[in-house]
Amino acid sequence: MGRGVKIFTEQHEMFRATVRAFVEKEITPHVEEWEAAERLPRWIWPRMGELGLLGVEYDDTYGGAGADFLTTVVLCEEMARSGCASLAMAVGVHTDMASPHLYWTGSEALKAKYLPGICRGELLTAIAVTEPGGGSDVAAIRTRAVRDGAHYVLDGAKMFITNGATADLYFVAARVQAADAGKRHRGISMFAVERATPGFAVSRTLDKTGMRASDTAELSFQAVRVPAENLLGREGVGFYEVMRVFQRERLVAGLHAVAMAQRALDDTIGYVRERQAFGGPLSDKQVIRHRLADLATQVEAGRWLTYAACAKFAAGEECVREISMVKLFTAEMVNRVAYECVQLHGGYGYMREYAVERFARDARLMTIGGGTSEIMRDIIARALLP
Ligand SMILES: Cc1cc2nc3c(=O)[nH]c(=O)nc-3n(C[C@H](O)[C@H](O)[C@H](O)COP(=O)(O)OP(=O)(O)OC[C@H]3O[C@@H](n4cnc5c(N)ncnc54)[C@H](O)[C@@H]3O)c2cc1C
Repeated sequence: MGRGVKIFTEQHEMFRATVRAFVEKEITPHVEEWEAAERLPRWIWPRMGELGLLGVEYDDTYGGAGADFLTTVVLCEEMARSGCASLAMAVGVHTDMASPHLYWTGSEALKAKYLPGICRGELLTAIAVTEPGGGSDVAAIRTRAVRDGAHYVLDGAKMFITNGATADLYFVAARVQAADAGKRHRGISMFAVERATPGFAVSRTLDKTGMRASDTAELSFQAVRVPAENLLGREGVGFYEVMRVFQRERLVAGLHAVAMAQRALDDTIGYVRERQAFGGPLSDKQVIRHRLADLATQVEAGRWLTYAACAKFAAGEECVREISMVKLFTAEMVNRVAYECVQLHGGYGYMREYAVERFARDARLMTIGGGTSEIMRDIIARALLP
């Protein structure tokens, strides 16, 4: 990654080597076992914590590494390149989609209480925004949080929550004020909810097409009393904070999509060089060479679109339009790559024993999770036609 123009420093490359060595030794040999078990082993979290991979950008006061956003970029690339997209997603949720709510909007007391455990991998986190009634229309959230003395009382349900069955701490979006007709996005806040809180339950673990080693759950909240100090940020403006973390989430999704596509393409190039047909390797046939050339071009376009948005994001610039383009382009691209890579593997591409088969199932999520392609097009169109 990062060929050509140099965007990573020597330090980033050293970090990349550490993550890659960890992946090759401790992840790759187990991918099939975890996919079959439909769970990641719990030891993976403290192990990653020990290696300093679970809070790379967080301040060292809380157990983080105080590194920059490009370090996160490297982590995402290497996790997704592992061939275990389930793990990349579970880790991405913990480090870049759930815990950032606490880091960026939580009080000092909450950060001191939870972040060290999050960085050590002792406290697994999840982000609960989507509801059974809908995910795209975030402003339509129906889970309620009603203030009652020193607590908020939460009632509602959440759907499709990654790490939902196994997390210890959930960041939950709930409505604190009724939606105002003109300002539907007002009145939503985020709450840190501990798993052991009475009234909270994992209703069911969901059975998915892909990303099978990552657990996804439906959650139920019935009169869950959450201490008022577990409110993140200011009451009622949570939606805007959720949207800010969504930008990070969508960049991470773009990085994952590109790294997954690159890995599948590399594997497929290896396959067509070996596979013989009509008196020679598939890699000698011009139509196949051209198809690979097209795929490599698309992956490269996705990579640099993503890097450009990463640079803007890291500089603190407004880049919602660019990030939406990254999410849209890379999610659609990884699915085109998946389709073609399966095709180039012929019958073996349809067999469970080949990694490309799992890749195609995993990739399918990318146009849905973290904001669908349709919603990305809507955001981009709004920027073009305000
Ligand atoms: C494996 C997995 C993991 C997930 N992890 C999490 C998680 O950790 N936390 C979390 O909160 N959520 C999570 N999600 C939820 C995910 O973000 C939602 O599925 C997604 O936002 C879409 O919401 P929905 O499924 O309710 O679809 P809907 O919103 O019902 O949309 C259905 C279809 O209609 C389209 N559509 C909707 N509105 C419009 C419109 N205005 N114009 C055109 N088309 C439209 C959509 O694009 C989609 O194609 C996860 C989902 C999956 C599948």
